[in-house]
Amino acid sequence: MSNCILKIALDTPLDRCFDYRWSGPTPEVGQLVLVRFGRREIVGLVVEIKNQGDTEVAQDKLKDAIALRSQLLPLSTKWLALCGFAADYYQRPLGEVALPSLPKNLRTLKTTALDNALSKLAKIVQQHQHDPQPVSMPVLNLEQQQAVSVIAGAQTYTPLLLYGVTGSGKTEVYLQAAARMLAQHPDGQILILVPEINLTPQLESNIRNRFPKLMVATLHSSLAEGERTRNWLAAHLGHARIILGTRLAVLASLPCLKLIVIDEEHDVSYKQQEGLRYSARDLAVWRAWQENIPIVLGSATPALESWQHAQSGRYQQLVLRERAVQDASLPTIKLLNLDDKNKHQKANKQDRPVEGLTPELVQALEARLACGEQSLLFLNRRGYAPVIHCDACGWISHCTRCTAFMVLHKPEHRLRCHHCSLELRIPVACPTCGNVDLHALGRGTQRIEENLQQRFPAARILRIDADSTRRKGSAQAAFDRMHQGEVDILIGTQMVAKGHDFKNLTLVGILNPDTALFAQDYRASERLFAQLMQVAGRAGRAAQKNGGNPSEVFIQTRYPHHPLYEALMRHDYEHFAHTLLQERRQASLPPYAYQAMLRAEASQLPIVLDFLEQAKQIEQTIAHQGIIVHDPIPMSMTRIANLDRAQLLVESPSRPALQAFLKIWLAALRDLKSRVKWSLEVDPMDI
Ligand code: ADP
Ligand code: ZN
Ligand code: ZN
Repeated sequence: MSNCILKIALDTPLDRCFDYRWSGPTPEVGQLVLVRFGRREIVGLVVEIKNQGDTEVAQDKLKDAIALRSQLLPLSTKWLALCGFAADYYQRPLGEVALPSLPKNLRTLKTTALDNALSKLAKIVQQHQHDPQPVSMPVLNLEQQQAVSVIAGAQTYTPLLLYGVTGSGKTEVYLQAAARMLAQHPDGQILILVPEINLTPQLESNIRNRFPKLMVATLHSSLAEGERTRNWLAAHLGHARIILGTRLAVLASLPCLKLIVIDEEHDVSYKQQEGLRYSARDLAVWRAWQENIPIVLGSATPALESWQHAQSGRYQQLVLRERAVQDASLPTIKLLNLDDKNKHQKANKQDRPVEGLTPELVQALEARLACGEQSLLFLNRRGYAPVIHCDACGWISHCTRCTAFMVLHKPEHRLRCHHCSLELRIPVACPTCGNVDLHALGRGTQRIEENLQQRFPAARILRIDADSTRRKGSAQAAFDRMHQGEVDILIGTQMVAKGHDFKNLTLVGILNPDTALFAQDYRASERLFAQLMQVAGRAGRAAQKNGGNPSEVFIQTRYPHHPLYEALMRHDYEHFAHTLLQERRQASLPPYAYQAMLRAEASQLPIVLDFLEQAKQIEQTIAHQGIIVHDPIPMSMTRIANLDRAQLLVESPSRPALQAFLKIWLAALRDLKSRVKWSLEVDPMDI
């Protein structure tokens, strides 16, 4: 029994912890505790235990904590330190970081769900063994062997960039390194992060097949609460030896962590875009440092930040230059000039054209259909057409609530805004002049699907995008059909670009990637390159069949001499990264500078700009070194869902200087009286 003061972190926007009195069983740091806060009862986290008088709260104001959650083993001080670091770095209260990272069932008033999860888990644990010996393993090639032995041989903090071309067998390296790590550490745990678990079911089944006796737990946001609680507990109690998850899993409680793997480390999905705007990759690197263990960052197109670290020697680089499967080679990449009208007209005489596709691409599709190989067409624009238009009066389908167009969705008979989800029936006539002859301008995936089906009526054509996969489980079912060879031509958005190992795919057509070439965001070309390299990498992953087609990628463009496409054609990430890094250095942009973005929104733009202007003025009252606070500017898509949005960029060549400045600046911002809703993002991804 003890009488003491508990310092407790609560999930509130207030940037501090709260003191409560406790008399009862001896508490521990890291325990969950039920307290009264205002009129509510909520669950908090004990972060410090202090002597009875050790509080600034007056005795008559001091409240008693209600109960400790003693059935749950306390969270470790290491885990608390991880949350503390995240809170500090991303400028959020500790409670807002730590508590939402726990499954909801741990934070409810009643403990029934937690108790149920614990007893269910106890039964599952009995079915598993601690034997990490895998069912059989493929023989690694030399580069893979080297990578595995460096990873498994690392006994201390070792950040490793596994730079391997698409299809080079990075997954196999993760699996065999994991096997060796688990053999070395009988209780060890391995955390594997992937950008989006629904798009990479293959990895999960590979892991389960490889380690059939081990407990593998998944952690991602689409799990049902009960399962999420169970899996989280399995990790927390050390039963789960491999934890496969999306970004939120980086904050899981892992008492015996020995290795972290970040697959596709460049992927922007690792950055959370709301609330705690953290980068799971960056937190994972910190966590590896804290645990003094190796971390593997894998990619064919590493983020420039990671690449620069590898160049400077801060990260050790492991390279896989060849495709792993014998006789599988990287596809040939060809650029098809959309402006090459003469050539197209000649070709059109013999061939029936498909709107939106060059004749060369149509011929290439025919060649695949003829010998039973699969093709993939990539177009990052869902819907039928991005806009409809009236030729008579010039009316165009604007969204009334956003600076955006309403997109035509033909199968659903709707116009949809992709930003505020406003939906309208397709107008039968122009709303301004009554003209019934409205035109769909441009092409989305639905229109390509329709055109192709007309041209190849016998072909089995499948579209995968956010619209075709709304139902739970439908994306998985669609990918299964593709893997089982029930599809001849797959049309899709970025959903089809990631990770999939399609064995019978020999052709990739990239229909209209040009728009991203001239985007404002300085990261646009880095991202476009990575995305196209990923999509291209879906072709030719198995050995070429006898009499089959060579693996090919066709990119349709108006700018065939653009350096980005030229680098892509040569599969030359390294040269491209070098050029981009030079540009970044000259312009003092990340990774050579550190940034934070203050964003604000309100019903009217002047209110937003006024707030940001005040925020800018505050800078002059703070002593700092080398901080640049830019002018407020409206965002390029200014209005979304009737709110006007603007932003203010803060930059510094020094990360500590920026951190110190942000702390003081934010405290002042919280005191500003304003009707705007604002947020701060450290290391913003979208500028
Ligand atoms: P990446 O993740 O680098 O794109 P994958 O891990 O998906 O590549 O591997 C591509 C293909 O190569 C897979 O079909 C995989 O089974 C195969 N593979 C990997 N390593 C080997 C190996 N050592 N020998 C034969 N095939 C391999
Ligand atoms: Zn009109
Ligand atoms: Zn809208």
